[in-house]
Amino acid sequence: MSSASRKPPEYHSAEAERRLAYFKERGEQIVTTICDLVEIESPSDNKVAVDRVAEAVAEKFSRLGGEIRFHRAKDFGSHLQVNFGGRSAKPVLLLGHYDTVYALGTLATMPCRVAGDKLTGPGVLDMKSGIALMLHALAALQEWHREGGLLRPVTVLLVSDEEVGSGSSRAITEALAKRAAAVLVLEPSYGREGAVKTARKGVGDYLLKVTGKAAHAGLDFKKGVNAIRELARQIEKVSGFTDLKNGLTVNVGVASGGSRTNVVPAQASAEIDVRIARLKDAAGIDKKMRSLRPYNRACKIEISGGINRPPMERTAGVAGLYAQAAAIARELGWKLGEAAVGGGSDGNFTAGLGIPTLDGLGGVGDGAHATHEHILISELPRRAALIAGLIERA
Ligand SMILES: [Zn+2]
Repeated sequence: MSSASRKPPEYHSAEAERRLAYFKERGEQIVTTICDLVEIESPSDNKVAVDRVAEAVAEKFSRLGGEIRFHRAKDFGSHLQVNFGGRSAKPVLLLGHYDTVYALGTLATMPCRVAGDKLTGPGVLDMKSGIALMLHALAALQEWHREGGLLRPVTVLLVSDEEVGSGSSRAITEALAKRAAAVLVLEPSYGREGAVKTARKGVGDYLLKVTGKAAHAGLDFKKGVNAIRELARQIEKVSGFTDLKNGLTVNVGVASGGSRTNVVPAQASAEIDVRIARLKDAAGIDKKMRSLRPYNRACKIEISGGINRPPMERTAGVAGLYAQAAAIARELGWKLGEAAVGGGSDGNFTAGLGIPTLDGLGGVGDGAHATHEHILISELPRRAALIAGLIERA
């Protein structure tokens, strides 16, 4: 009998209690695994460093019997795929990343340390605790179903460039998602209660460049074409594209231009962040951005960029996966909330393909990308039990 035809177990709350106790007993081991990973610093832009963490993570998955496959990337660290089980049924895809936003050396001021219920360190929440949870959930399932193995195939994909837009990993993520029954994203959960994320906004980045004509502000004022003035008008225009009711925002986050006060500026530019809640708004806002024309015809404007992550919408598939997660949490004695957030992740890509995706399954804590980044140690056991249950049932 193939493992795929076996029915996933429906466990009653006594079984849920047993599972929770299992992970509570192993709380210290989970913390140790997290620190092992946090202590290998891995900023997205340092290939050597990210490759180092990739090797360490691969070693841990291979000890569980996973089949390791590295996808080499030229400018970034390797992406890591791990396959468990046969190909007899659609796998569940566990998705995440091991790059962080922290420069090498951050550990010196932000060590991986236990302080009460908090565990601190660069990337501890986003998302090295998520990787540790994958490892411990898979190890537990193997122990619990010694004969059936994991009961169903599991694919793990950990990428090296999520914090910088996932340009080199996106095609791999999408290819593996298309073959999966569901995608579980172990990015940080939301808020103190550890809600999962059932909607994320799509994200776009644009660069608007204005070229005018330089001139002496005193001697040749009339010969100049002021690029900053043109940019100011364009900023007003694009800011007006914001449509809060439909969750569409346009934020000019960086503006620059000019050289000195007595020169009419020939150059000015703005970096613009666009967020959309609905996929159907992507083409419209992109068209608006590309249709910008100069107010002053003597200026030249150029717009580059685009929408780089589609929104993760709360589709029926997403809602169904959340319902399963909430049911498992209920058996474990807790109420799992859901949240819609403005930030994107690789879950946006998989949800954009229509694959049921649940995000924010990882650690519970606060301060992602900040000096107070931490997770709550006491939340780890039930998180691990939730993930194990979802791997079986998703
Ligand atoms: Zn992340």
